Formats: sequence, C-alpha cells, structure tokens
Amino acid sequence: AKARGRNGYRFYAPSMTGEGMERLRLETFLRRSLEKNEIFLNYQPQVEIDTGRLIGVEALVRWNHPELGLVPPSRFIALAEDSGFINQLGKWVLEEACRQMLRWQQQGLHVPKMAVNLSLKQFERGSIAGMVDAILQETGLEPQRLQLEVTESVIMNTSDALGYINDLHAIGVGLAIDDFGTGYSSLAYLKQLPVQTLKIDRSFIKDIASDADDEAITIAIIELGRSMQLSVIAEGVETQEQAAFLLRHGCRLAQGYFYSRPVTAHDIVERWTSL
Ligand code: C2E
Ligand code: CA
Ligand code: CA
Ligand code: CA
Repeated sequence: AKARGRNGYRFYAPSMTGEGMERLRLETFLRRSLEKNEIFLNYQPQVEIDTGRLIGVEALVRWNHPELGLVPPSRFIALAEDSGFINQLGKWVLEEACRQMLRWQQQGLHVPKMAVNLSLKQFERGSIAGMVDAILQETGLEPQRLQLEVTESVIMNTSDALGYINDLHAIGVGLAIDDFGTGYSSLAYLKQLPVQTLKIDRSFIKDIASDADDEAITIAIIELGRSMQLSVIAEGVETQEQAAFLLRHGCRLAQGYFYSRPVTAHDIVERWTSL
C-alpha cells in the first residue's frame, strides 16, 4: 500500500490503520504484561544423545494474555525489540532464569546449565555485561552455570559485537552462537570470538535424512566445531533418525521435540532430574 501515490494512500489508509491498530494494541498489552504477571518461562532440555543425560536447559519466554491467549515469541519478540520493551523483558528473563537455577540448586536438583537468549537490541543499549554481572551478583548463581545464546545474525549485524562478547566472556559466562549456519559469519571472525558452543540451526536438521545439502552443511558444522574445539548442539531434533545421524557424524548434543518440548520448571524436575 505504501507504494501508492498520494491519492491512493487514502483508500489504503483504513486497512493500514487496522494493521497499525492491531500492532498498537498488542504493544500496549505487551507493555503491561510483566507487571500483570502474564510472562513466564518454559525450559527445553538439552541432552547428550548417546546417554539421554540432561546437560542443560534453554529458557524460552512465554506470554499468556487473558484475551489473546498464549502469544508465541514469533509474534512479540520483534515487537518488543522495536518498542524498546525488550530491555525490560530481557532483564526479567535473565533474572527469572537465574532465580530458577537457584531454586533447583536449593532443592538439591542438578540442572547443569541454563541457556538464555539475548536479543540484538539488548546489545545496542550498551553495558549488557554490566547487567548480566549485576544479576549474577544479585542471585549468587555461578557464572559458568549460565550460557548466553546470541544468534549469528546478531553477531554479524552489531557493531563492536566482538567487544560485547569479550566483556561477557570476561564475566565468566558461557557463550553460544544460536542459529549457526544461517548468518554467513566468516571463519576468521568466528576464530576471534570467545564462544564455547555452536547451535546448528533447526532448518538444517529438519531434512537431514533426505536433503544432501542440509546433510553436507550439518556435517561441515560438526567438523568445524570439532576442529575449533567447540561444543556443537543440534537444534530441532524431532526424530530418532536425526539423532542417529548426528551421533554417527560426531555431534553428541541435541535439543528438540524428540527429547522434549519446552516445559515448565516443575516438569523439568519431574522428568529430567534424579534426586
Ligand atoms: P530459538 O532461540 O532458536 O529457540 C528455539 C525455538 O525452537 C523455540 O521456539 C523452541 O520451542 C523451538 N523448538 C525446539 N525444538 C524444536 C523442534 O524439535 N521442532 C520445532 N519445530 N521447533 C522446536 P519458541 O519458544 O517459539 O521461540 C522462538 C524464538 O523466539 C527463539 O528461537 C528465540 O529466537 C526467541 N525467543 C524465545 N525466548 C526468548 C527470550 O527469552 N529472549 C529473546 N531475546 N528471544 C527469545
Ligand atoms: Ca536459542
Ligand atoms: Ca536457535
Ligand atoms: Ca531460530
């Protein structure tokens, strides 16, 4: 509609307004979501393929609005980023994830690691390391228990990403490159980053058994991880065949519906930890 001339604009205004209104409504709701306790976290297990052992969980944010129901992150993360709300939201997620680790520890339960997603906008604001450090101090969680996931595209599109990543590394938290393989990072650049983990994007794993290209890319990433001494986690593993393929090619870690969907903290305890 934007491409229309000045006159055309008039005719398209109502529908654009409708869309804009919807967005505004969602944004207004979202701004109040935290104080109304509509935001919570689910946790998805990360496992060792050959033993089925839990190596960590990834915190995934959820929004349950009384009228809209459960709104998926794909509908509100970008909105939160555009409106700046991501800073509050991201901070809350990190705090809650760290508090949950403490609760598990106090219950004597062993959850080795907590992975938390960071968004690009949180980097633009600066001093992300300061925020992370403050939360660790506040909760008393050991930094090595926390793994921050940053997408490859964020790293490639943030100026001074290396500086931010180095600052985070200095605190002692683990760093993972999320959605790896989709962001065209150069290997020379990768070498400079103090990351410990690569997460193979779900899009490659999906057709691993039938698509020769996806198979080749996945194998290449596993090899890359091995030669750079990085852990490699395959995302979106849904079948036994995919898991077997990964193991056969030297990828030992996985995450996906085959093992578990993201679940509540309670379910993690029930199904994944032994007292
Ligand atoms: P992501 O970080 O790549 O997280 C993995 C997504 O894949 C999750 O979707 C998870 O539920 C889904 N998933 C896991 N295993 C499978 C599988 O076997 N099959 C399929 N089809 N999907 C699987 P979710 O929870 O809807 O999150 C979507 C995205 O939203 C995340 O992608 C992440 O980019 C973003 N996100 C979620 N929580 C947060 C958060 O707390 N902060 C930020 N900044 N972003 C978040
Ligand atoms: Ca992630
Ligand atoms: Ca991912
Ligand atoms: Ca993704």
